[in-house]
Amino acid sequence: MKKTVLIAMTGISMFFAGCTGGQKGASGKNIADMAPTDFKYEVDEFADLQILRYYVPGFKNLSLQQKELVYYLSMAALEGRDILFDQNNKYNLAIRRTLEAIYTNYKGDKNTEDYKAFEVYLKRVWFSSGIHHHYSQDKFLPQFSQQFFVDQVKALPVELVPVKEGQTVDEFITMITPVMFDPAVMAKKITQSGQDLIVASANNYYGEGVTQKDVVDFYNAMKDTTDLTPISYGLNSRLVKENGKLVEKVWKVGGLYSPAIERVVSWLEKAEKVAENDKQRDVITKLVSYYKSGDLKEFDAYAVAWVTDLGSQVDFVNGFTEVYGDPLGIKASWESVVNFKNEEATKRAEIISNNAQWFEDRSPIDKKFRKEEVKGVSAKVITVAQLGGDCYPATPIGINLPNADWIRRDHGSKSVTIENIMEAYDAAGAHTGFNDEFIWSDVEISSIKKYGFITDVLHTDLHECLGHGSGKLLPGVDPNALGEHSSTIEETRADLFGLYFIADSKLLELGIIPDAEAYKAEYYRFMMNGLMTQLVRIEPGKEVEESHMRNRQLIAKWVFEKGQAEKVVELKERDGKTFVVINDYTKLRDLFGQLLSEIQRIKSEGDFAAAKKIVEDYAVKVDPKLHAEVLERYKGLNMKPYKGFVNPVMGTVLNDRGEIADVVITYTEGYAEQMMRYAREYSSLPTYND
Ligand code: ZN
Repeated sequence: MKKTVLIAMTGISMFFAGCTGGQKGASGKNIADMAPTDFKYEVDEFADLQILRYYVPGFKNLSLQQKELVYYLSMAALEGRDILFDQNNKYNLAIRRTLEAIYTNYKGDKNTEDYKAFEVYLKRVWFSSGIHHHYSQDKFLPQFSQQFFVDQVKALPVELVPVKEGQTVDEFITMITPVMFDPAVMAKKITQSGQDLIVASANNYYGEGVTQKDVVDFYNAMKDTTDLTPISYGLNSRLVKENGKLVEKVWKVGGLYSPAIERVVSWLEKAEKVAENDKQRDVITKLVSYYKSGDLKEFDAYAVAWVTDLGSQVDFVNGFTEVYGDPLGIKASWESVVNFKNEEATKRAEIISNNAQWFEDRSPIDKKFRKEEVKGVSAKVITVAQLGGDCYPATPIGINLPNADWIRRDHGSKSVTIENIMEAYDAAGAHTGFNDEFIWSDVEISSIKKYGFITDVLHTDLHECLGHGSGKLLPGVDPNALGEHSSTIEETRADLFGLYFIADSKLLELGIIPDAEAYKAEYYRFMMNGLMTQLVRIEPGKEVEESHMRNRQLIAKWVFEKGQAEKVVELKERDGKTFVVINDYTKLRDLFGQLLSEIQRIKSEGDFAAAKKIVEDYAVKVDPKLHAEVLERYKGLNMKPYKGFVNPVMGTVLNDRGEIADVVITYTEGYAEQMMRYAREYSSLPTYND
């Protein structure tokens, strides 16, 4: 499995008030660029979700050509939306379109419990790009009656029911209702445990009857183990069985998902014409060419061009990128992020990355696992202008790409921190009462208030710019050796690197952290989150499954246990409530270093047995009593554990010759409004993509 790259929401910035206003100056942010004081971040909330909007500071300072480029790339970002729905489950488009038809045509009373539950369900389907929870991967069930649904489908004009070819509406209902209502049918989008991960997962990366053994054998047979620059086998296709034989259906122009990909390509071709420079134009040209051929060698050529384009201000991700959606980490979901460099804040990240070798040489790991020469760690802070596919509405706060190990080895990687998204989390998290409920004392509360935002951003910088790029595999170690534990181990490694060095006086010397005490804010909330508060995302009785959550619990529980004799960290009770108390920050840092050493050894040696053991011992299990307590206390706060974003709306102003005279951004579109507009304007795939 490949390197884990995209940080999902840290769960840290989401929960904390952090600081506002003045503190942002400390992170290098240009105050003049901040959102207007009346900017409203909160858009909507339902189920366990809150929808926010993000501000795009600095957009109006771009040149007209850059704005036009951002506009075309943004349109390309929206056109791939249907692909993700279909990748997540083969019935997702049918369900979404049915629900949207009901939503538009409903004539009944909108105050009934059934209708209200219907709206919530539709909003959740939009949010998750399908019927499975975006984070837990479990199917969520409608809270309206099946009869209500059947009645509504039957009330629709027949041409609006997305039946399969030759199907009657009744047959359609018989097909679709168990998928929506029966908890046993397609219960999990991705299964990480059990007998056959492929058969048990409800995603659409593999066809009927394809087993885990089929997949493993198929791709092993394809691999040339002597190839030093291997393609990402199987990345851009669905693997199906036809007449008993395995074949790849490639996602490309003229292949699977062609109608959507053609539209993505047509916008990219417009973008090509207004590229900032030849290097960037070459990146877009290569991407277009790859979308047309589906040839993964062309994908690598594009990725190399992309990772070495460091001079452009505007940048983007567009394509089949991350493999979290496939339990075997082979198939990539479609995503897009359009952004431009935040020059001010980038200085901070550049300072870190310019000193990459200093950090690598002092990493608390065995010398033989260190990189003699850290290559091409490019880091920047970006402002997102548009999100699409698997980055929307749930949004990463940092990205590190490309994924191919050999490209990272030979050409480096690009690492970004998305500051305007972090800022929106931070602003929306203020005044929720969370800190008062879960933090031990005023000392920690004020430390987090003072240093929370800057240390969160710095930890993300360290994780992305240095953590993922540090260390090396011993010669001959298979990069896939850690199998299903590779994501967790990789995220653990990057987080530990960040935790260890955020407390280093080097950061003070570099002038990027306010003082020698600041790191304690990050240590406290990391431990509190890993030991306790991230459990708010887990349902009672369930275990930790998502790899970033596993990584955080692994770290927190391991250092807690190893420091127990000396009471480095304690869980103390007060008024029947449990709190994390850190008694010795210096020893805690040592423990982070010790764990990093072991995690790096596991990774470098490809020690699968040790990876499995440490994950199973620390990362997975949940203490039911503490879990129940945390859920209860959290419930009292009326907060939503997950957040996502609507996009700003981009519009063009034309001159009298019909040319683009300006691109303007507005921030008024609501959540349902945006989703329905996307359904009208950016939905080009057939309902069934077999
Ligand atoms: Zn990461």
